[in-house]
Amino acid sequence: MMQAPNVHDAEPIPEAAREEIDRLLQSGDLFRYTAPENAPVSLLEAEFAAFMGVKYALAVSSCSAALFLSLKALGLPRDAKVLIPAFTFAAVPSSVVHAECRPVLCEVGDNYRVNLADFEAKLDEVEAVIISHMRGHTSDMDAIMTMCNARSIPVVEDAAHSLGTRWNGQKIGTMGRIGCFSFQSYKLVNAGEGGIMITDDPEIVAKAIIMSGAYEHNWNKHPVLMDVFPAIQNTLPLYNLRMSNLSAAVIRPQLAHVERRVSDGRRNHDHVAAKLNQSPWITVPDKLPAEERAPDSIQFNLDGMSEDARRDFARIAAEAGVKVQIFGLSADNARAFWNWHFVPDLPRDLPATRAMLMRACDVRLPARLTPAECDFIADVLVSAAEQAVTPERAYGT
Ligand SMILES: *Cc1c(COP(=O)(O)O)cnc(C)c1O
Repeated sequence: MMQAPNVHDAEPIPEAAREEIDRLLQSGDLFRYTAPENAPVSLLEAEFAAFMGVKYALAVSSCSAALFLSLKALGLPRDAKVLIPAFTFAAVPSSVVHAECRPVLCEVGDNYRVNLADFEAKLDEVEAVIISHMRGHTSDMDAIMTMCNARSIPVVEDAAHSLGTRWNGQKIGTMGRIGCFSFQSYKLVNAGEGGIMITDDPEIVAKAIIMSGAYEHNWNKHPVLMDVFPAIQNTLPLYNLRMSNLSAAVIRPQLAHVERRVSDGRRNHDHVAAKLNQSPWITVPDKLPAEERAPDSIQFNLDGMSEDARRDFARIAAEAGVKVQIFGLSADNARAFWNWHFVPDLPRDLPATRAMLMRACDVRLPARLTPAECDFIADVLVSAAEQAVTPERAYGT
């Protein structure tokens, strides 16, 4: 029998990174502002902005840092409320708290997307919105942008896990005022750590550039309208969330691989989804019609199973070599809102989101998997569901 595929290793970093890193190690030129021009971080910013079709990009230490800087650059006052989906990674409410703002949580449906009625009901009490495209699932951006634009509420897209996703053909991360991406190892482009924010707004990027740590006149090294800077020089704190040249050297050659990773990831996902949907116990929610996804994992709901059966399902799959995380059933899960005790006024309950988290499963499905490896994973999951609802078979009797 085939061995369970390794879903944890990332793809090798392209060979081109090696030469550039050697050069940087030779010269010791690791700081983005040492070279007078063309530092790897600056080149990455220019290339990423061109890739996304936006005016400005600012590379930083993480997507969390990009989210934090976005809120600061929007000039939100202390204690301003920021609406976020209740299904996201703990880093998102954390970035709001870090910016001295207050997260307001909005319900998410069993298709992992923002519940628009709850979103609209809470919109009038907030000063900004972060739409977290959690696990690359896109909420209805037409409805969200219409509602937010009508109230002049700025939208920050947390596209950490959505590089390569499109909505009506438009790149995710380019619809809100600001888009933020992650280069942490579990995302489509892997630098270990790193993030980038994009915008067309010169004032926002100028403020973020300074706060990210462009002290003194280092803003000279950013191709932004220069007349924006003198007025804000020395008026903003320096949080020093810069990216190092080494990270940029690892990221730049991966940009050429994004389209392939997107199509391979989507092929793998859709193949496994079709197989899982044949099980009476498993539903993979449909994508929205306007969405072209770029998945590197799969999420699905367990139907008609008791909590014990759901736990059995995860155990049986793990024993067969496929790790399944049921978001709401694993202890201290960072994506279960009830664990975010650092959030002031954490809602006592969000019943729709809770119900989803208690039966929604998460399985990694990296783009580099072969069709045979995807079959292995799908077969294990379908069989584990079958065994979990008929327990005697699980023990081979
Ligand atoms: C990974 C992730 C983040 C955090 O990104 P970092 O670069 O690790 O800070 C935020 N939001 C979502 C949806 C993520 O998947």
